[in-house]
Amino acid sequence: MTFRRDLVKILAVQPRSVSSIARELGLERRDVEDDLRHAIRSAAAAGHTVIVEPARCKQCGFVFGTDRLVKPGKCPQCKGTRLYEAQISIRT
Ligand SMILES: [Zn+2]
Repeated sequence: MTFRRDLVKILAVQPRSVSSIARELGLERRDVEDDLRHAIRSAAAAGHTVIVEPARCKQCGFVFGTDRLVKPGKCPQCKGTRLYEAQISIRT
């Protein structure tokens, strides 16, 4: 799928969040997340290194799991809503 190949290209340039990719491509975040998961899987299968810098809470520093690609609603630890979104990049 062309779009997924484009995703790999985008992520090879610099780390990006789901929101910033969605904004750039004019898509819904959940649509981007879905394709992103496929792109990550095929990139890894092709021998590329996928780097996920996990989402993080700005208030208490809580780090979310790397499977959390879309920005979480709030922090499970301090209930804060000011969160850094996960940044994904691919080294080809
Ligand atoms: Zn927190």
